[in-house]
Amino acid sequence: MGRLYGSVGRRDFLKFTGLMGAIAAMPWNTRPAWADTADMDMDEDRSLSPDEALNRLMAGNERFMHHTPKYPHQSAKRLHDVAQGQHPFATVLSCADSRVPVELLFDVGVGDLFDIRVAGNVITPEVLGSIEYAAALLGTSLVMVLGHERCGAVTAAVQDKPLPGNINAFVNSIKPALGSKHDQSAQFIETAVVSNVCYQIDQMKQQSPILADLEANGKLKIVGGRYDLDEGDVTLVA
Ligand SMILES: [Zn+2]
Repeated sequence: MGRLYGSVGRRDFLKFTGLMGAIAAMPWNTRPAWADTADMDMDEDRSLSPDEALNRLMAGNERFMHHTPKYPHQSAKRLHDVAQGQHPFATVLSCADSRVPVELLFDVGVGDLFDIRVAGNVITPEVLGSIEYAAALLGTSLVMVLGHERCGAVTAAVQDKPLPGNINAFVNSIKPALGSKHDQSAQFIETAVVSNVCYQIDQMKQQSPILADLEANGKLKIVGGRYDLDEGDVTLVA
C-alpha cells in the first residue's frame, strides 16, 4: 500500500488543516443538540482526555469480562440525544469476526464508539480516512487497533494458501507483519496477531500526518489491544 500523504509537504499540510475548520462547519458535522445541555451523562463524552477515554474502554471491558455489564447508553433518551449528531469518545479498528462484538465487550452503547470493522483489522485507504474523520472532525481522543485470539484472517496470512475471490485483499495486508521467518503453529499465529496489530498501527502513523500531528499535540492516543476469546478480556499490546 502506498503512502497516502507521503508527498505532501508541511506547508501544504498546514493549508489542509486550515481547511478543516471549514469542513467542520459543514452540515454533516452539525454540533449535536445535546452539546450545550447540562446533561452530565453527555458531558462526560465531550471532555475525555486520551487517557480518560482509554480508562473508560478498559473499565467497560472489566465489567464485560466479569459478567457485570451496565449496558450504558442504550435507552430511548440516549437514542434521542444522539440522533442529531455524534461525539464518540474512541475509535476502534477491530476484526469483523462475529466473536468480537466491540460495543458488547467494552460495555458501551449508542454513540460511544466510532466502530470500524474489517477482517484482520487492516489499514486500507478507506479505513484510514474513517479514522482521520473520527479523530479530526468528531474529536475522538483515542484510537485502538484490536486484534483477537485465533484470528482467521491472520491464520490465512500465516498459512499462505491460494484463496478465492477478493479474500486476498485483506490477507495480503497482513503478510508484511509476519516477518521473514515463521511457522504455522498455533503459538506463532497468536504471536502474529499481536505483530499484526503493531504493524497496522505503524502503517496508520506512517500514512497519516493528520493522526501523527494530533498524537504529537497530545490530543490523540493510539494503542493496540488483543482480545482473548476464551476469557473476554482485552490486553494492551501497543
Ligand atoms: Zn479476526
